[in-house]
Amino acid sequence: MAENWGENQWSSVGTYDVKVQARCHDHIDILSEWSAATTVTVTEAPAETIGTPEIYGTTTGTTIEALAFSCSVVTSSLGHTVMYVFSWGDGTANSSTYSPNSGHLWNTPGTYDVRVMAHCAEHPEYESDWSPAIQVTITEADETISSPPQMVSSVADFAAVDEEVWVSCYGVVNNLGHVLEYRFDLGDGTISDWTTTRTVYYAWSTAGTYTILAQARCVDHPEVITDWTRDTYVHEITIYDGLETLLPAELEVTIYEIKAFEQHTYVVRSGSSMGHRFEARIDWGNGEVSDWVGSGYGGNNIAYINYTYQTSGTFEVMCQARCIEHPDIITEWSSTTSVPVSETITRPTITGDVTGTVGVPATWLAADAVSSDGHALEYALLVGNTEYDWTSSPTQQHTFDAAGTYYVRIRARCAEHPDITSGYTDSVRVVITD
Ligand SMILES: [Zn+2]
Ligand SMILES: [Zn+2]
Ligand SMILES: [Zn+2]
Ligand SMILES: [Zn+2]
Repeated sequence: MAENWGENQWSSVGTYDVKVQARCHDHIDILSEWSAATTVTVTEAPAETIGTPEIYGTTTGTTIEALAFSCSVVTSSLGHTVMYVFSWGDGTANSSTYSPNSGHLWNTPGTYDVRVMAHCAEHPEYESDWSPAIQVTITEADETISSPPQMVSSVADFAAVDEEVWVSCYGVVNNLGHVLEYRFDLGDGTISDWTTTRTVYYAWSTAGTYTILAQARCVDHPEVITDWTRDTYVHEITIYDGLETLLPAELEVTIYEIKAFEQHTYVVRSGSSMGHRFEARIDWGNGEVSDWVGSGYGGNNIAYINYTYQTSGTFEVMCQARCIEHPDIITEWSSTTSVPVSETITRPTITGDVTGTVGVPATWLAADAVSSDGHALEYALLVGNTEYDWTSSPTQQHTFDAAGTYYVRIRARCAEHPDITSGYTDSVRVVITD
């Protein structure tokens, strides 16, 4: 006698009579009677239950440290995946997490009850009870300030007696983010008032060299205070008696030959009695005056000014200097220096024949040559290194009497001043055939 199994899932609660009947596989109209009934009672499935986790963690901390917590791993009665929720006792909880680890930072001192519960990941309505609480006591962290302030290096190095000077330090950091205030030891026995702006103005009444220091503290907790500025971070200032004076401005022209159209560098020397940088300008003797140009590149007592004369001539040039910080401290114009500037002929360009025939004139044109003085020009052709006659025409011709490859150039000169010549053009390569 063979066995057969059937399956059914009832979706509602109740009592059901189950019977069975058989028939021949080959002759399906040959049937058995129904069997006697077996009664099956279907009840509600048991609800899912989740174990209550236990919480672990520290019980003390400060307002600047995140504290770590964990809990025991629990399971669902139906074997479903479980998630955890930590409640921090300050009205916040983290969002559900698969991890039994979490952490929290309390910003306010106090005592907080920390708990955890678990729920089914698929059926979040099935929750565990909340765990018993851990009581965490949070105290205010100790306030600290990173280090003494450093003086700002751009504070003046020199000043006159009774001249007001800007004094400043860089900000420093406080671990609780409280507002800090600063004060300065000005080196002559004076301590400035506290200021949150990190800047004060001060005028020393006696000549001398003074070391300036700064100090910072918490506005709300004045007992939290730094040391005074240390080591290389202090600032020294030298205070001079009397008014600032400048050395007379001196023009230095050491250029071998000054040509029109060429830029040259002119030097002005002066110097401040307070060591300030100065700026200088030059009157070029042709109606033009340069902008003010600061000293400092190459030393506080020297300024370099570039200029290009556009014409020849002899120019009476003079210079003037003033303090960069105190423009009303200004020198007289210097006495004049005669600067001879020679005429320049710009280098021409060349175009023209690159092939030719023996006995037939070939032609080239020089262009773009100009005299700085607007004088008329003459041109000469060079074939190889042989220069031919100067003519007033920029169009130059040559007749070759032998086949070969030749290099041709042109240069220009002033018709009035034949010793003023341009550079040569580039060479044109010319191939001459029979
Ligand atoms: Zn579930
Ligand atoms: Zn504070
Ligand atoms: Zn000055
Ligand atoms: Zn000329």
